[in-house]
Amino acid sequence: QLDVIDAAEPSIKAFLTVSGEAALEQADAFDNLSDSEKAELPELAGVPIAIKDMIVTKGIQTTAASRILEGWIPPYDATVIEKLKAAHMPLLGKTNLDEFAQGSSTEHSAYQNTSNPWDVERVPGGSGGGSAAAVSAFEAPLALGTDTGGSIRQPGALTGTVGVKPTYGGVSRFGAIAMASSLDQIGPVTRTVLDSALLQEIIGGHDKRDSTSIPEGPRPMVAAAREGQRRDLKGLKVGLVKELNGEGFQPGVEARFHEAVDMLTAMGAEVVEVSCPNFKYSLGAYYIIMPSEVSSNLARYDGMRYGLRVMPPEDVAQTAANMMATTREAGFGDEVKRRIILGTYALSAGYYDAWYGSAQKVRTLIINDFKKAFEQADVLVSPTSPTTAFKFGEKMDDPLAMYMNDIATIPANLAGVPAMSIPAGLSDDGLPVGFQFIAPQQRDEVMYKPAAALE
Ligand code: GLN
Repeated sequence: QLDVIDAAEPSIKAFLTVSGEAALEQADAFDNLSDSEKAELPELAGVPIAIKDMIVTKGIQTTAASRILEGWIPPYDATVIEKLKAAHMPLLGKTNLDEFAQGSSTEHSAYQNTSNPWDVERVPGGSGGGSAAAVSAFEAPLALGTDTGGSIRQPGALTGTVGVKPTYGGVSRFGAIAMASSLDQIGPVTRTVLDSALLQEIIGGHDKRDSTSIPEGPRPMVAAAREGQRRDLKGLKVGLVKELNGEGFQPGVEARFHEAVDMLTAMGAEVVEVSCPNFKYSLGAYYIIMPSEVSSNLARYDGMRYGLRVMPPEDVAQTAANMMATTREAGFGDEVKRRIILGTYALSAGYYDAWYGSAQKVRTLIINDFKKAFEQADVLVSPTSPTTAFKFGEKMDDPLAMYMNDIATIPANLAGVPAMSIPAGLSDDGLPVGFQFIAPQQRDEVMYKPAAALE
């Protein structure tokens, strides 16, 4: 596996850090286990995995692709990393992302651009472009991502991989670097639906170190995926979300989406159209709530506690406040600064009710749309992303065009419901298309069955 990484990295650049030696030690430790010890471990034991550099790894540099964390070696592991180690899964290294997971193309990384393995002139999506590209280019069989508005699913769609955002609270966020805490969730990036189910069962479950963790055991996702492989969907009601396809979606994406829906029908599922009229406000609400939480979460990078410290120039007073200002000016990129300013504005006295208050009300409307939709259907479907992979630079000067990429993925984050993207063939341009399933809260297994049936 490390040889594949060596061969692919010069053109793909999916990894920020490759932890090859540690991975080999972990692999040896697994090989040295007795057969009876191995029999106790999960099915994925011994299988190596790549980790988005948004997740804290003890002894391995963790940067969130930001200059402000350059050189930071965490003294502890995230809960998900502890679980992977307990399962004897070697860590291959840390993958590239948009700085602090803010972006849809991985171009906002402070370190490097990652290429889409399907066409190296194009982006792999974002923010988790590194994990998706690594899995797509066979540099890693499995990876972890984080998804705040689509950062696991949209890169999955653009690279032809499977990406899952679990129910909010289903996987511990302890040790996931916080972007927007009420939306963030860690999840699997894999090549098959069954692999995602196996991985989600390993990383999921209650954790008392995450106060938003759901106090319930893992759902039977592996069983659901295996059942789906029989390709019998009789009795399943699939809701096609009217607002999440059609206008604004690339024709080739639409075509593959409708063909996949026809395949679900052919396997016995009943397809109904459902309407979620408030989804049109989800992007607006997200771009208030998310930056508000970003501005608060990123206040901790002050030059005092972690990573970078830049002293003010000599003609400026050497105070702590000035040091914080010069550190943050040098350490954060443009997109992160844009969001901190937006969030600080939205939360400021006098504007709080008009912006943050309204956005929270819209969030409730979206939750209610989902509730009504799930009275009519067991699982909802849409294309994952309105377009296939775009060229480097195409959307960098137009933040709104970049934000539009997440139109179909954001509603699930706002409502905390589980969702996944699976490959649905190639568009007319020869690039992968993603198909999204969305299930009710804490019912992750419901999407695994039809997803496994369709792949
Ligand atoms: N692309 C979205 C954003 O820029 C989603 C980010 C994410 O899920 N981390 O905010």
